[in-house]
Amino acid sequence: MRTLLHNAFVCTGLPNGFIKDGAILIQGSKIAWVGSCSALPPEAVTANRMDLGGRVVIPGLVNTHAHGGLSTHRGCCDDGDLFQWAAALASHTSSLTIEDNRRGCTLATLEMVRNGITTACDCTRYGAGVFASVASEIGMRSLSGALANSPELRLNGRPNWPLALQETKEAMNVHAGNGLCRFYLGGHSPYSCTPQLLIQIKREAEALDLPFVIHLAENRRENEMILEQHGKSSLAWLHSLGVLDRRAILAHCVWLDDDDMGMLATSGAGVAHNPASNAKLASGVAPVPALRRHGIPVGLGTDSTLSNNCLDLFQEMKFSVLLQRAVSLEGSIMGAADAFSMATIEGARVLGWDDDIGSLEAGKEADLVVLALDHPLGLTPERVLSDIVYRAGPQHVRSVMIAGRTVFDDGQFTLVDEAAARRAIHKHYQSLAVNKEVYDA
Ligand SMILES: [Zn+2]
Repeated sequence: MRTLLHNAFVCTGLPNGFIKDGAILIQGSKIAWVGSCSALPPEAVTANRMDLGGRVVIPGLVNTHAHGGLSTHRGCCDDGDLFQWAAALASHTSSLTIEDNRRGCTLATLEMVRNGITTACDCTRYGAGVFASVASEIGMRSLSGALANSPELRLNGRPNWPLALQETKEAMNVHAGNGLCRFYLGGHSPYSCTPQLLIQIKREAEALDLPFVIHLAENRRENEMILEQHGKSSLAWLHSLGVLDRRAILAHCVWLDDDDMGMLATSGAGVAHNPASNAKLASGVAPVPALRRHGIPVGLGTDSTLSNNCLDLFQEMKFSVLLQRAVSLEGSIMGAADAFSMATIEGARVLGWDDDIGSLEAGKEADLVVLALDHPLGLTPERVLSDIVYRAGPQHVRSVMIAGRTVFDDGQFTLVDEAAARRAIHKHYQSLAVNKEVYDA
């Protein structure tokens, strides 16, 4: 079946990729053609036509770092720096179950899709395949897995390795052939994993041909601890263990120096940048312009609803630019095009998924978001880009298509009953005598 979206302002996500009177031809899950309405290909004649009434179409947003399972406890812990915050959460880690994780992931995926996010890399401690299952039900694309840690270094909670490996293998079997679901193996951080564990995780990831995910250089204290223990920066320490390569996804990377960035660029690894979370947990501002100058792919991430507290990449796009300008006092250090690229094609590159998603091009998956943007002076590429990054939000998202299927349209999900799902979750927690607390992140 072919569908032609026409009468649209198409932003392909490529440099200068704006088509004012644009159209997109979709066949099955993929984009067959993108161009001007005045130059439709012959196959468009027999397609179902959908007139978008001049609305703006952008690539589905790519969330490179999330913890969906924590979404039931949004706002439970809003203060403290990373370690104070983590300690405040840690005493409650044993009380949440896999079902709690599933409820959190349900809330997270509903929020993400409503906000135009079509793909997310999700992290948990237990239940490596839960996010994939929930996301798949809603029609969303996911890169899911669990971050392992060494029990002797992270005392709370039960050990999660090799459990994470088993869970991941099971989830890969369950979702075999489902193009929406991919998986990774990961470690929580250099300070909560022994070198032996990190090497083992990476070896297993290579054997299964999976990406490797880790939190890195999030807080200055982390770098001090690793320097004390191993005589190296966090990044140099990971590099020396041989776990950094093109398949590595590093969340945060706030505290990197020039040498670190040179090493990182050579390794080919990508960075998941979480500007709001880093600011909220008093971690600092990642050196994004320098990272990108080094040619390191940088995507945007929301992190969890405990450290953010919303799963909204429009906010992250805006904040990523404003933060850099505020700390550098340079008004052109980053612009809207940089932020838009990080939220789309660069994010896809970080996840190793850019052959299929991240831009609107023939041959790629049809993951796209229709935005109701208007401008008193009319839509131009400059105004549309400016609106996407500095003004737009979830209130402008009219519909979301993932793999050629409309999963959200005019305020309604097409594959799940949002109201019923929310009702069941609220009812569950309200029925508990004692309000449950959260996993640590
Ligand atoms: Zn995280």
